[in-house]
Amino acid sequence: MEEKSPAQLPFLFPKDLDFECTSCGRCCRDRWEIRVDAPSAEKLLSHDWSASLPELAGAVPFKKRLPLAAGVVESGADELSYTIERRSCGSCVFLTQNNLCTIHSKLGFLEKPQVCQQFPFLFSESKEGVTVGLSHYCPGVRRREGASAPPLLAQEAELRRLHAHALRVERAPERILIDDGLPVLWEDYAAFEAFLRELLIADPRSVPASLGSLAVASAMLADFLRVRAAGKDEPPAGAVRDFVAGWKRMGPARIVEIARRQRRAPRTVRILLRQFLSLVDVGGSDAGTSLGRALRGFWAFVKEALGVGSAHCLPLDARVSIRAVRGVELPWESPELSEPLRRYADHAIFRRRLLPILGARVGLALLVLHVAAARYVARAQAVLAGRERATPDDVATGIQLVEKHYATHSRLGEAFARGPARGLFRKIAARPRYALAILER
Ligand code: SF4
Repeated sequence: MEEKSPAQLPFLFPKDLDFECTSCGRCCRDRWEIRVDAPSAEKLLSHDWSASLPELAGAVPFKKRLPLAAGVVESGADELSYTIERRSCGSCVFLTQNNLCTIHSKLGFLEKPQVCQQFPFLFSESKEGVTVGLSHYCPGVRRREGASAPPLLAQEAELRRLHAHALRVERAPERILIDDGLPVLWEDYAAFEAFLRELLIADPRSVPASLGSLAVASAMLADFLRVRAAGKDEPPAGAVRDFVAGWKRMGPARIVEIARRQRRAPRTVRILLRQFLSLVDVGGSDAGTSLGRALRGFWAFVKEALGVGSAHCLPLDARVSIRAVRGVELPWESPELSEPLRRYADHAIFRRRLLPILGARVGLALLVLHVAAARYVARAQAVLAGRERATPDDVATGIQLVEKHYATHSRLGEAFARGPARGLFRKIAARPRYALAILER
């Protein structure tokens, strides 16, 4: 069959997510790079900003981008040679006090940098089509309950335009790794992905067991494929679909039941995994040398393991008492606190940022960690607000900040794609009881 060009591919929308800009200005205030290609920068520079941005006083609002780190490849990165200057508070120099974009108000939406036009949409291409994902960092991303059609369908023409000019589009490779040494065809992977999403909703009573069942399913699938590969380079085509069909006959709820009955990892392992979050927090900071950050990470880990002192929570940029964070109630049994996390995990699988790139087992282990991290941040947020029980707003904050710092807008995914971190996560993913342990509380 002839391969379709991206422009011919169907667009795949989340069934109930919508986006409407709330003009909160959050995406213009963070310190990430706002990349601009040279022709756009030159066009913007030819405009006289002195009346609308007197603070610039003739200064150039762009600076040359630093080169990408060795080994990091991005499509179109060569042409993106400029970034927009920021004020000392971190906001873009074009952001007004009313949270409006000066470029937008003076020259129109289409003259804004491409990254600004695209946020919060994330595109991912596969043989099936172009998946339209959304960054949950943006508060304008909303759930529309009971929508009869995907709400974003109404924006399809604009989304196609954004996709055609997108600076970053994930493309699914020809073969998708389920685990190291287990590449499978896209059709096989797609069947497994659909099954994962079924598993997530198979047991409405237990979100952690549902999430844990993803790790159980990927571990069982890897074992199954190794047997079917029988020492060859890859498993036979269709093997994943056989696995899925077999479990569908038995009922996905059986896998959730297996997850529920898994023996939890020993306490020391739980501490190690749970406190990995604090290491990521410190490691994700730009402050200080890498040795200094590593030492701070180790010290944070020791305090977490002992349950004493305080730790810097990077996403909230605040120190929080370790004991107080642990003491915050955030019961899985409470649907208003747990369902947003289940739905977040579902959307993360749908938008395919991790799974095809890192391999399903490592991607799922990271996804579980992201959910655990969102709970950690929600608890820390409750502590800062003086509450003993987390609220739905705390959970929403946890998800938003995990998107920013761990999941979508950080380079952590790239760090996990290779090297020792990948090996560590593969080991964790190989043991579903570890994944269940970090979700336990
Ligand atoms: S250019 Fe406009 S939309 Fe982009 S970050 Fe600056 S103020 Fe925000």
